[in-house]
Amino acid sequence: MRPHRAYSPGLTGVLPLRESRHLLEVLRAKVGDRFTVFDADREALAEVVELGPPVRYRILEERRPEREVGVEVALYPALLKGDKLSEVVRAATELGATRIQPLVTRHSVPKEMGEGKLKRLQAIAVEAAKQSGRLRVPEVLPPIPLKEVPQVGQGLVAHLGAKVLVREVLDLKKPLALAVGPEGGFAEEEVELLQEKGFTPVFLGRRILRAETAAIALLALCTAGEGR
Ligand code: SAM
Repeated sequence: MRPHRAYSPGLTGVLPLRESRHLLEVLRAKVGDRFTVFDADREALAEVVELGPPVRYRILEERRPEREVGVEVALYPALLKGDKLSEVVRAATELGATRIQPLVTRHSVPKEMGEGKLKRLQAIAVEAAKQSGRLRVPEVLPPIPLKEVPQVGQGLVAHLGAKVLVREVLDLKKPLALAVGPEGGFAEEEVELLQEKGFTPVFLGRRILRAETAAIALLALCTAGEGR
């Protein structure tokens, strides 16, 4: 079987059905094949002992690779049209976000998100964590109104009118919260409210980025750009 990472909450020795089917139907797993299992904070080399489904495995060796940024990184992207949040969740997971919570803002076109869509975004986070070798799957939470964003110790809000650059204010010793506006941008009073909650407006360059590009650029500057 080719190398594979399977998500197995609790590393219980039994794979969830979805993961089992992938192993059996796509990878044609056989008893004795080896693969990697991971959950929120553990990773291990495992061996298939029973095909099931569900596939049963035994752990051969635990590993603890360092794949996290080292501080909590919460991303608050505004609710976006269509399937654009999927792209944000996938990239944000690869870039080390630990929590993703969409915001309902004045200019967001969608004002809510259904249970089905939330589940899809959570599944995308699991897939992206697997693909990027992360042990920790970021929490993807239901949307909240912007006014319910908590007070933060360190926050950055992407804003076209800002003068400050990320590298001038970023401190990766402190937990980080990041906010990005919707297609129509934040209303000025929303930026002011976020500032009261501890967010500093930051500038992402001279071009107007799509909201999903802006979320990815902001996060990339804070994590990938710092070698984290
Ligand atoms: N017409 C909108 C405005 O004036 O705000 C454009 C919104 S832009 C498509 C969507 C979001 O991406 C913005 O609310 C902001 O958070 C972020 N953004 C896009 N380009 C940016 C830039 N160059 N600097 C900072 N933030 C940016």
